[in-house]
Amino acid sequence: MTRTPLIAANWKMHKTVAEAVQTARGLLERLGGRAPDGRTVLICPPFTAIMAVREVLADTGILWGAQNMYPRPKGAFTGEISPPMLADLGCTHVIVGHSERRHIFGEGNQLINEKVRAAFEFGLVPILAVGEKLEHRQAGLEEAVVEEQLAKGLMGLSAEQVRRLVIAYEPVWAIGTGETASPDDAQAMHAFIRRWLSARYGEETAQEVIIQYGGSVKPNNVDDLMAQPDIDGALVGGASLDADQFARIVQFQAP
Ligand code: PEP
Repeated sequence: MTRTPLIAANWKMHKTVAEAVQTARGLLERLGGRAPDGRTVLICPPFTAIMAVREVLADTGILWGAQNMYPRPKGAFTGEISPPMLADLGCTHVIVGHSERRHIFGEGNQLINEKVRAAFEFGLVPILAVGEKLEHRQAGLEEAVVEEQLAKGLMGLSAEQVRRLVIAYEPVWAIGTGETASPDDAQAMHAFIRRWLSARYGEETAQEVIIQYGGSVKPNNVDDLMAQPDIDGALVGGASLDADQFARIVQFQAP
């Protein structure tokens, strides 16, 4: 089967409503008003700008999503946003388990698993972010760390759900640092993840899962990364804040 590449922007805690609208409009202009063929494009603004970005992107084929959520439909959870609230805004995807959530906000695999399951329950596609820290890679533990994040993060999911899941492999040492995993190293980890999925859920399911790479993806490295057989897209932080750079990443040239 052919997997449609997913290029996603994670704007993190950047952009006022006016700035978000300007960037979304700038992106659309550079893409000729529509998402290009052969790839899915997704923007994840801060919560406060989702509505405004949705107005810009409606009917363009470009999708919008969220960077996080709390895994309950409603209740006394001051400051949190629920999956139905995101679905109500037309969000299609939600990032779950981003390394900044894991390491700055102390989110563990159990909460992340609850978020993955809640996303499916309310019709959102979770983008489950996994990845090792530098010390793990230096100790040769990168596969063990990612395997544990996958095993715990996907607990209780059916093969049918896993098939629709997106996984973002984001080595922590490459996020926002300007350091990128080499295309070969990234491919090796993506192939490991797909083998792991195949062993658990069957080869057919594993072949359908979109596995994005994230970690300082830029216009000058996206083509080489996307040329790898198991890299099915990119989750882009810093370079997605700039319409010129993100448009070029969206328009990656695959061999
Ligand atoms: C990210 O936030 O998921 C990310 C990969 O950031 P950056 O592209 O800035 O490394």
